[in-house]
Amino acid sequence: MSRACLVFLIFISALNSTSAQVVFQRSFIKMGSAFDLTLVANNQVEADQLFEQAIAEIDRIERLISSWDQSSETSQVNQMAGKEAVKVAKELYDLVFRAKAIAQLTNGAFDPTYASVDKIWTFDGRDVEQPKAEIISASVAKIGFDKIVFDPLESSLYLPLQGMKVGFGAIGKGYAADRVKSLLQKQGVAAGIVNASGDMSAWGIKPNGEPWQVGLINPKNKDKVFAWFPVKNKAVVTSGDYEKFILINGKRYGHIINPKTGFPSQGVISCTVFAPKAELADALSTALFVMGVETGIDFINQLNQVEAIMIDDTGKVHTSKNIKIDETA
Ligand code: ADP
Ligand code: MG
Repeated sequence: MSRACLVFLIFISALNSTSAQVVFQRSFIKMGSAFDLTLVANNQVEADQLFEQAIAEIDRIERLISSWDQSSETSQVNQMAGKEAVKVAKELYDLVFRAKAIAQLTNGAFDPTYASVDKIWTFDGRDVEQPKAEIISASVAKIGFDKIVFDPLESSLYLPLQGMKVGFGAIGKGYAADRVKSLLQKQGVAAGIVNASGDMSAWGIKPNGEPWQVGLINPKNKDKVFAWFPVKNKAVVTSGDYEKFILINGKRYGHIINPKTGFPSQGVISCTVFAPKAELADALSTALFVMGVETGIDFINQLNQVEAIMIDDTGKVHTSKNIKIDETA
């Protein structure tokens, strides 16, 4: 389970409520991650029904995008790599299409086809010897979002190289958060936060008229929230590498892989991205690990409606241009 969930604390205070609605919360594990759903409703019975619908939606998405479930459409696309195109649900086709667009935007730092190298690394904190260069380069040769063949008429996907794979580890939770938010909005829920292990999508305001707040913790000093941010109708996503890591000859590497080298990235320990959608924020937060602090902040500064906070491995905090933090506060 990701530790990114620890980076954010949601400040949920329903005190001084001025409306009849009350805040309800439910936590559960889905997609191998801790989810926290917060929503406003009139009573517990109504809230419970909404939670059940949200959970069913997450289960549905997991069945579509899971790489573990051998019968998922995603696994079928991977099994048929180098053999034939696979007809998939439009929803999956569109998700892969958008993932390709984000891969282009990040110049391949985020790449949904990174997954052909993921068997080489086990991020369980053990100290290992460096894998053989030829094993890594053979896997890197199979990475490449621009190799995916899309057939919009057939709604099919084809991975042209045997052993090529798509994986949604860096975007799936964000996508699920967006979907649950829009499902609950369609059910008339006026406000809430979907928190998928640090991938958050928020809407509306608390019953007391105040915005939802998320607090940012520096992984180097976990006892203290160093900044609170009001979130209104946007997504805030944090990726952190402090739990899933590997030591190679004593040197620490995190679980995000540089698709160009096949090696885990280094130097950044946490990235938080603010964006209109959690799906985009999730993918960008992963890309920032690969880009590193300087390129990453510069990249974010060129995007509209997107901001970022990056923490390097010395604990230093770096922010994009519209974020101001007073760390002494
Ligand atoms: P977290 O697990 O902290 O939420 P991310 O959202 O950044 O972190 O997702 C990390 C996961 O993304 C990895 O466990 C892996 O499955 C996948 N991944 C690793 N490197 C890349 C990459 N360069 N591009 C796309 N996906 C990646
Ligand atoms: Mg991500």
